[in-house]
Amino acid sequence: VYNKEFFKNFILRLIPMFEEHRDHLSKLDSDIGDGDHGVNMSIGFREVSKQLDKIYEETEDIASFYKKVGMIILGKVGGAAGPLYGSLFMKAGDDVKGKNELNFSELVGFIDNGVKAIEARGKAVVGDKTMVDALRPAVDKLKEAAESGKDDLESFEAFVEELKAGSDRTIPLIAKKGRAMRLGERAIGFRDPGSFSSYLIYEEMLKEMK
Ligand code: ADP
Ligand code: MG
Ligand code: MG
Repeated sequence: VYNKEFFKNFILRLIPMFEEHRDHLSKLDSDIGDGDHGVNMSIGFREVSKQLDKIYEETEDIASFYKKVGMIILGKVGGAAGPLYGSLFMKAGDDVKGKNELNFSELVGFIDNGVKAIEARGKAVVGDKTMVDALRPAVDKLKEAAESGKDDLESFEAFVEELKAGSDRTIPLIAKKGRAMRLGERAIGFRDPGSFSSYLIYEEMLKEMK
């Protein structure tokens, strides 16, 4: 089972991860955007780190803990990614309110709800060269795996691999959403930075599962 502490430990992993990948993510964003994606994410998670113990103590269930994380991200991370990742964390727990432990199928629903929130907010679909290109196909695979009763860890490993593959698939695309849209064909040949940060986030969850 995945309890509130599991989610706290996962968030704790994201803080150094975004420090480590800050320059790389900003470099990806400088190719087709304004070069701040890594900086934005690291600023957000530094603030999460400051408030994490407090919001962990203050909240009674996983959903409300995650919601507070989302509100910090929404408030601190600028640009497009702030509201998108903010809503991922804020909405993930909508179907598991009051719970302090999730089984694997609930965890999958939790992740799916977060991705749905990004889709609702950003209105991007697969092929638009955004984080949705990584998240949507990967979550759909994860749902299938979970429904077919495949082992948690095996399913999650495949999920993370698919996130990476989805990020890779953004490289040849023209952007239909976000800042890179303005570049037209000049965006071809470059990876979407948000798709890569999405992969990195769930890679940390996989590490926490192991
Ligand atoms: P900004 O572009 O405002 O500087 P960031 O650089 O932090 O914000 O984030 C850029 C990322 O946000 C992109 O790489 C893309 O994955 C994601 N993004 C932008 N617009 C959308 C959208 N409408 N839907 C989903 N993701 C989006
Ligand atoms: Mg940017
Ligand atoms: Mg920006």
